[in-house]
Amino acid sequence: MGQIVRRDRLAAEWLVIAPAALLSVAFTAALTAIFWRGTISLPASLLIGGLFVYAAAFMLLYRIGCNRLRKLEELGRTDSLTQLPNRRALHADIQREQADGKEVALALVDLDGFKRINDQYGHFIGDQLIRDCAVIIVDLCGDEARCYRLGGDEFAIAKSGPLAGTILEGICRGLIERLSRPIAIDDRRLTVGASIGLSRVPPGGTIGSSELLRRSDVAMYASKRGGRMRCTWFSDDFDRNRESRSEMEDELRHALANQEFVVHYQPLVDAVTHDIVAAESLVRWIRPDGKAIGPNVFIPVAEETGLINAIGIWVLRRACTDAMAWPGITLSVNISAAQLRNPEFPIQLGYILEETGFPAERLELEITETCLVLDPEVAERSLRVIRQFGVNVSLDDFGTGYASIGFLRQFRFEKLKLDRSLVVEAGQDDGSLAMMLSSVTVARALQMGVTAEGVETQEQAILARTAGCDRIQGWLFHKAMPAHEITSHLNTEEALRQGVPLRMEGQS
Ligand code: C2E
Ligand code: MG
Ligand code: MG
Repeated sequence: MGQIVRRDRLAAEWLVIAPAALLSVAFTAALTAIFWRGTISLPASLLIGGLFVYAAAFMLLYRIGCNRLRKLEELGRTDSLTQLPNRRALHADIQREQADGKEVALALVDLDGFKRINDQYGHFIGDQLIRDCAVIIVDLCGDEARCYRLGGDEFAIAKSGPLAGTILEGICRGLIERLSRPIAIDDRRLTVGASIGLSRVPPGGTIGSSELLRRSDVAMYASKRGGRMRCTWFSDDFDRNRESRSEMEDELRHALANQEFVVHYQPLVDAVTHDIVAAESLVRWIRPDGKAIGPNVFIPVAEETGLINAIGIWVLRRACTDAMAWPGITLSVNISAAQLRNPEFPIQLGYILEETGFPAERLELEITETCLVLDPEVAERSLRVIRQFGVNVSLDDFGTGYASIGFLRQFRFEKLKLDRSLVVEAGQDDGSLAMMLSSVTVARALQMGVTAEGVETQEQAILARTAGCDRIQGWLFHKAMPAHEITSHLNTEEALRQGVPLRMEGQS
């Protein structure tokens, strides 16, 4: 920006100096000629000539200066990549429309998966994609609304006047539909999605442009959390939830520093012998008032705030340390999508294995499909490094979302865990039973081990075994328990195998 200003100023100066100099020479020559003919005196002719040149130069300078200023002003309000108006222009437009007492609606559009394309194909293709998306949005807006680029992969669409919100929502739905189809760049067909947040201010409303933008931003993040490729209207609840989330974030930081987390372990048993073959670590948060909080409550907040990296590493270290006492069985540790996306994670994993001395081939990381859907390339890269250590990877909660046979083939998990909902429903309807059976068949064909999760009844256990599951996990056999209880269960099993009479607690 500074360079453009300097170049413009120099050009402006030359444009003024050159004509002014020429004019001054021409007028002085003319006046001198008149003076020689004796019509006016020499000083008067020089004075008139000088004044004339000064007035002409001033007028010229003023006009050129104004033009340049206008151009600079325009440059400051335009995005250089797409030539769309930018964030400054957006604020100015909203303020103007609001001053006229109009209803204003604002959509914030964030492209899904743009970073992946930028990383994979480079910035040249990334820039082209942004330009193409800009053209698509402008086309969809037509004369109805105005499109802005706010930076990166973020666009905004503003609409003012009667029914602004309704019309804008229609445009946004059209955009999501259009972006569900690929965009052709050279010989590539690239697919990006869009997460959109909407907010509006009624006619005469007092919300400023910054607040409107913030609300659309909050709603956009709700769209992202909700699974992307959707529009969400801002609601005051979002702010209330954010407040309670931010309170929990502070508490989680405190909990980590004060060691309020504990790890319990739920055994996985062999489907035939019912012996314990593995233990899954499940983190719990015991608040200072003694209240235990389940991972389903705090893990999502930890994921959103990035605290999951520190908590996850703490759990991994704790679990590897505890499981050193259980030599015959596998240790399963749950890993969040955010952890898998963190390039530091494989390094930290290697460090923990070395530090604790836990054998990598006895460790299994459980990941859910969210890790893979959001960022398949990054996940694949991390999984490759993790496997190089000899650690196995298991796909958790299979049957709850989109994870397909394609996923199983692409990522080549060593193990698959059928979600509790699938196991329960398989006992109740034929469709779910068929899905469970076909999932096990495919997994088996791909040489994957299969665990049935959440088994609570004998019927479910029999069904899981006959379907071909080799491991079962559920309250029918064991609930999650502290580490020392796993040790005693394993000792009991070992004693039974050896035919040693069991020593009851309290006996010396
Ligand atoms: P998950 O990995 O699928 O773990 C199984 C969950 O099902 C556990 O809940 C377990 O207690 C519960 N469960 C096991 N058997 C039964 C049963 O027979 N019936 C019923 N109704 N439930 C059963 P929990 O401990 O509340 O964990 C919930 C989820 O939180 C876990 O699901 C996992 O996704 C996540 N989680 C737990 N610990 C960690 C952790 O250290 N890191 C991460 N990233 N996520 C974790
Ligand atoms: Mg799990
Ligand atoms: Mg699970």
